[in-house]
Amino acid sequence: MRDRAQTVIIGAGIVGVSAAYHLTDLGVTDVLVLDQGPLFETGGSTSHAPGIIFQTNGSRTMCRIAQDSVALYDSVDLDGERCWYGVGGLEVATTPERIEELKRRQGFARAYGIEDTELLAPAEAAEKSPLLDPATILGAYWVPSDGAGKAVQIVTKLGREARARGVGFEGGVTVTRFDIREGRVRGVETDRGTVECERVLICAGFWGPTVGAMAGVPIPLVAVQHQLVWTDPIPELAGLDGDTWALQPVVRHQDMSLYFRQRDDHYGVGNYRHEPIVTPQTSIRRHGDGPMPSLMPWTPGDFDLCEAETERMFPALAGRLRPSDPERSLNGMFSFTPDGGSVVGESAAVRGVWVCEAVWVTHAAGMARQVVEWMETGEPSYDLAEADANRFYPFQASPAYVVERGKQQYREVYDIIHPLQQPSKPREIRLTPFFARHQALGAEFFTGAGWERPQWFRANRELVGGVTHEWTRRWGWAARGWSPEVGAEHLATRTHAALFDITPFAKFDVAGPDALAFLERVFANRIDRPVGSIVYTAALTPTGGIRLDLTVIRKEEALFRVVTGGGSGQHDLAWLRRHRRDDERVSITERTGSLFALGLWGPKARDILQQVTDADVSNDAFPYLTARYLTVGEVSPVWAQRISYAGELGWELYGQFSMGDRTWRLLWEAGRDHGLIAAGGGAFDSLRLEKGYRLWGQDIQSEHDPLEAGLGFAVHWDKDFQGREALEAIRDGGGPAERLACMTFDDPRTVVMGKEPIWHHGRVVSYVTSAAYGYAIGRGIAYGYLPTAIATPGTPVEVEYFGVRHAATVSDDPLWDPKGERLKA
Ligand code: FAD
Repeated sequence: MRDRAQTVIIGAGIVGVSAAYHLTDLGVTDVLVLDQGPLFETGGSTSHAPGIIFQTNGSRTMCRIAQDSVALYDSVDLDGERCWYGVGGLEVATTPERIEELKRRQGFARAYGIEDTELLAPAEAAEKSPLLDPATILGAYWVPSDGAGKAVQIVTKLGREARARGVGFEGGVTVTRFDIREGRVRGVETDRGTVECERVLICAGFWGPTVGAMAGVPIPLVAVQHQLVWTDPIPELAGLDGDTWALQPVVRHQDMSLYFRQRDDHYGVGNYRHEPIVTPQTSIRRHGDGPMPSLMPWTPGDFDLCEAETERMFPALAGRLRPSDPERSLNGMFSFTPDGGSVVGESAAVRGVWVCEAVWVTHAAGMARQVVEWMETGEPSYDLAEADANRFYPFQASPAYVVERGKQQYREVYDIIHPLQQPSKPREIRLTPFFARHQALGAEFFTGAGWERPQWFRANRELVGGVTHEWTRRWGWAARGWSPEVGAEHLATRTHAALFDITPFAKFDVAGPDALAFLERVFANRIDRPVGSIVYTAALTPTGGIRLDLTVIRKEEALFRVVTGGGSGQHDLAWLRRHRRDDERVSITERTGSLFALGLWGPKARDILQQVTDADVSNDAFPYLTARYLTVGEVSPVWAQRISYAGELGWELYGQFSMGDRTWRLLWEAGRDHGLIAAGGGAFDSLRLEKGYRLWGQDIQSEHDPLEAGLGFAVHWDKDFQGREALEAIRDGGGPAERLACMTFDDPRTVVMGKEPIWHHGRVVSYVTSAAYGYAIGRGIAYGYLPTAIATPGTPVEVEYFGVRHAATVSDDPLWDPKGERLKA
């Protein structure tokens, strides 16, 4: 075995081998792949996967990654043996809700580039899948390019190709320790010696937590057992001809958490319809101790429901689902993470330690491509924020949380998940100082980054009473996770004032002699402004895409407060720390948990604040986009920032956590005569969209640059910053090809949720990045990137929502207070 390689990949399952293959594609061959098992049937999850791929996904990134994987699998063969069978995929519906969901899924497919999908009647579905009893379903969604792949053959082929290009592969080698010095990986130790290296890519599948722990890198996933049965031969399949490995479509029956695929003269039946069975890392068997480590004893009782339902839907399978050969029934393990996403990227904890974990066969080749691009070029082609290895707060990597959430992801793997559906457990992990007050006001709590955050308050119900707008009558999907109080809170913020608990915003202090130079280097806007300035800015990728989007406030000459979203907090923190050079004297301290934050926003905000402070908060004394310390009643200091995500006059107020409640009480009492209300996240979101504020992760991400996103105003061209060259080239090359556009629906009752396809002249041209109802303008709003030629006000478009196209028109952006007069009042 070699004793050095530039890159060591741990794991020769489909992810690790795909990564090695893609590295060679980028010209990197000084790579060694190690696996504790035999090559290339290593005994990990890949060894058992039936290889089924359903590409449709609500995540644009994962949907495209699945398509990329299929393209690669389809392009390879193993000594003439086909590896991919594009037999098509059927997702069947047995409930009216699922029929609706399938329309939504077809919308994702259209929005994200899967072609020729269809919604089928039961008889049409049975024509494609002859053993399916059409009487048992209400309809189906058909994706002709779905299918099944021979995972082990794909791995073997990609491994051989990579080996031919110089990559080393060693089976029967267990990595036991990492050599880490000065925060950087220098090598790995194995049971067969040490390998010196510059970087490691962990592709250890469900062993990830154990391998990660050796490097001090948390990999939050659990190994869950999943049942798969290869039935006894089915007489109806006896006469199949030719290459019979897969001739019939792969089928998902998501209402019962089951899937089916024909293989030669039998079927594979997969079952998620049982209580999750988690295997602790310490109980994973070693190679050589009997069956493969990824196999656990078959639990027959867990299969009962599956058996009955399968026999109903596929009568030909009746009596053949408990095969006499025990090897045909298995509990196989694979990874589930707290939020169902993959875990990908360079660890914030140790330089040079990369991970690509919790990835299905469906996404393996495509995700491996992204991670190696990231390793080699500094950025992946796709925005991988939702898979970012550093997105988890420490509590989200605790075993208790990972197991609880991982099990729930298993239960819900095929469920219809509303975008606003809230987890029931674990809750009340992080509480702001206002929790008891929120409860008293009848808050409906949503959870984000562990915080309990009011979405709306039942106490505001009376504000709805006098309102007769169309929007009070919402129904269906759009009415879930919503209540008319949201609209009432939105309007009250526009007319009077509201208190928003924004404590979950992530806050960091960036300090030190080189803090300014560091921030100027990584951010596109000018940071060097007088003490007390607030700057909205982005950090760009080398190709000019938006990697972070946040505000930087200069508190002192060499002390800056960074405020960003709660959801992106860990990602942004890790990114900032990673981009600090070794010789830069800069400290970055997380302050989120020690500071409360309140947004006091609305035209009456000044009157209210002035009542509780002696400081002059007039426009002259305290202008827009400035910040300073105040004393509010007895609460001192309160750091006040004149900025508002609602697009109204107002302040963000920050202070010691312990004094949050007192601050609320003072403001609440002062606000009584000014119509002050408490408002929640629902109103926050609709207010920000009405004002045209972009949301990171939805409207803006690394695949779009500030010019496309309409954020050119926050780019300071008189300085150097990361990504500048690329951005200049876009600017000087005729500008971006797409632009983020604001659209409003022609029918004032229409409201959509986001991610829907946008049509223009009978063609899908884009998808909705954010959507909400604009209660003050009286119309539903959608944002999306449109080809520049049509991203102009007045252009008619259509937004497809559950299979129906709704007329919309490109509108002015923003719709609310375009000159910012209310903000600057
Ligand atoms: P693995 O294949 O598990 O590879 C990880 C490798 O790391 C192993 O070979 C292991 O030996 C090695 N390793 C771990 N620790 C060390 C160490 N310390 N030193 C050296 N080597 C180490 N996905 C789909 O998309 N479609 C399906 O139809 C599907 N069906 C499935 C059915 C079953 C029964 C199972 C079990 C899984 C299924 N999956 C399916 C999931 C899919 O198989 C996995 O997500 C995927 O194979 C994971 O690939 P991997 O390379 O990350 O992990």
